[in-house]
Amino acid sequence: MVLPELPDIIVLTRSMNTVLPGRTITDAKINQPKVLNMTAKDFISLITGRMILQSRQRGKWILVDLDDSLVLAFNLGMGGHIMLHTSEETPNPQKERVVLQLDDKKQLWIHFWWFGHVHLIKSKDIHDHKQIGKLGIEPLSDEFTKDCLSAILSGRRGRIKSYLLNQHLIAGIGNVYVQDILWRARLHPQRKANTLSDVDISLLHEAILITLQEGIRYSGGPKERDIWGNEGHYPEHYRVAYRTGKACPRCQSTIEQIRVGSTTSYICPQCQT
Ligand SMILES: [Zn+2]
Repeated sequence: MVLPELPDIIVLTRSMNTVLPGRTITDAKINQPKVLNMTAKDFISLITGRMILQSRQRGKWILVDLDDSLVLAFNLGMGGHIMLHTSEETPNPQKERVVLQLDDKKQLWIHFWWFGHVHLIKSKDIHDHKQIGKLGIEPLSDEFTKDCLSAILSGRRGRIKSYLLNQHLIAGIGNVYVQDILWRARLHPQRKANTLSDVDISLLHEAILITLQEGIRYSGGPKERDIWGNEGHYPEHYRVAYRTGKACPRCQSTIEQIRVGSTTSYICPQCQT
């Protein structure tokens, strides 16, 4: 079970935008109040009657703009999904943490195992949110240039992998997509960031863009689902991620699994030095 990352969130928000804009939330059922940033009573009272506008990705968060200048912010955590169901279906209260009723009689089930959040925030306060407000740059934004990446890594003596996963620096990359990003850039995950040459940084910048865009093109990662429940196909296109013992698609060397800090890494020992 893995956490949804930027491509998975984009795939989900795009599917949400095909059906949710214009729908009004008519009721909410809270099966796990601790996922909220307020009491269940306040949450239900604030969200009832709100119309859903657009859904968008920010880091590993899903932000749903509502009317009345509110934002519903989801962080799905481990094994999380947001799925649309008909009124005939009955959610399992042990699994569906929050259920939103919509005015077309459909329901949105918000499901996750742990670490998830369902926060209701005033739009003007989003930059002060204690997690969302601290997120780093969006790697698929126009502002994320090669020079920007170079500035982010400048003077940093730790492992390159740790900086790529640090949400306060670059938002949205996790332990699935980072594997193929490092392989594409021919960088060992333990490589010290301040030893990267200008060429290395160019390759890394390109690898981030290509890998994340490929994740979106193949509808996201393992067990990630869109609002209809369709699973992502990116795992069929993994280069080194989760492919221990298989051949590197570039040089045919055997892919190895190593520990880097508290995370697992998959590397080609020939390509990534
Ligand atoms: Zn290789």
